[in-house]
Amino acid sequence: MLSVDELQERIRATLAAHQQQEQEHVPLDQAQGRILAQEMISNVNIPPADVSAMDGYALAEAAQADSVFSVIGESIAGKPFEGAVQAGQTVRIMTGAVVPAQCRCVIMQEHVRREADRIVLTKDCREGANIRRAGEELRGGDAVLYTGRCLNAADILLLASLGIAQVPVFKKLRVAIFSTGDELLAVGETLSREGQIYDSNRAMICALLRRLPVEIVDMGLIADDIEAIKVALAQAGQDCDAVITSGGVSVGDYDFLKMAVEALGEIHTYKVKMKPGKPFVFGKIGRAVYFGLPGNPVSSYVGMNRLVNPALRQMAHAQALPDLVLHLPLNQDLKKGAGRRDFQRGVMQMGAKGWEVGSASRQDSHRVHGLSSANCLIDLPEEMENPTAGTIVAVHPFFSHFSGGD
Ligand code: AMP
Ligand code: MG
Repeated sequence: MLSVDELQERIRATLAAHQQQEQEHVPLDQAQGRILAQEMISNVNIPPADVSAMDGYALAEAAQADSVFSVIGESIAGKPFEGAVQAGQTVRIMTGAVVPAQCRCVIMQEHVRREADRIVLTKDCREGANIRRAGEELRGGDAVLYTGRCLNAADILLLASLGIAQVPVFKKLRVAIFSTGDELLAVGETLSREGQIYDSNRAMICALLRRLPVEIVDMGLIADDIEAIKVALAQAGQDCDAVITSGGVSVGDYDFLKMAVEALGEIHTYKVKMKPGKPFVFGKIGRAVYFGLPGNPVSSYVGMNRLVNPALRQMAHAQALPDLVLHLPLNQDLKKGAGRRDFQRGVMQMGAKGWEVGSASRQDSHRVHGLSSANCLIDLPEEMENPTAGTIVAVHPFFSHFSGGD
């Protein structure tokens, strides 16, 4: 059986040949979360001219405290001073306004005394002070962002500063998703038979997919019927870049997914030394990559978090990003058997001595409330057994639980 690292590596290597190549242009206001398809080059200088970094006075020359200048006009943002500035003269200037060509420095307004049409410096002002030079940050022709960048709000700010209205991005992946299980009922319907439960996984998987550059093809709920499953898989394998299914990958009598994928496509890997989520099928059907998640909701979630999301990002042509791993002390003993790498649902919090982590609840893989109360996964290595309070463990935070992110 593969380790989690081996499986991740196997997925990475296989998907290198499955990256989205098709591109399109989208308006800048829809570019958030999309993957840049070309290098972006600045076609302007930033700043576009020499501008003031302060509200104050642009001086014709550097000068010492007690020097006197006569005020001959003003330069405000969007409305530069148009005359000439002679020795001994100054122009009132606002932050971001163009510094007149003849001026050598800007003095902050807090460092002058205004007396009618003149100012008296209360501090020295050296050559070049408080002037942001044209092109100081970026020059026309500079590359600013590269192919594979997942565009965030700061990137949108940068592109808007360059006046770029249409952004070349890779097209969204088409990802099909369906759940299987005769015990399942679509959310919104009324439970009527004993043992019926709601199809909760599909809602969660779609919620995770909405954060990615993905067009979701929701194929709903399919019965535990090998023929129906084959029809759905064959269709998805024709139309989509990836297919995700929930349920039916264990070894029970009604677990048909593995059999159906074997019949129609190929299974690259099955089972991984991971808890929860040991049965995890990675394969292909038609032109699509296939991910078969187990039905247990928490197993499904962990499979999405650790394996499918990064795989889809790679397929979407996003550059690989480092996984943010914190190393925190446990604030309690945990139960853990040797053999499989365990991703326990944890709560990390600020304790008396800094950040620490503990268990979110009991660790069974059907505990949806436990998952919802977690703010991280605690990543316990295969060989570790029953770690005790104080042990330093690896933690993967869930970003949506912390403020200050973008
Ligand atoms: P399976 O992997 O199909 O053997 O399912 C394992 C467990 O997960 C069973 O208890 C199922 O009832 C449950 N399960 C399967 N699919 C879903 C789903 N879509 N939503 C919620 N629970 C599920
Ligand atoms: Mg099932």
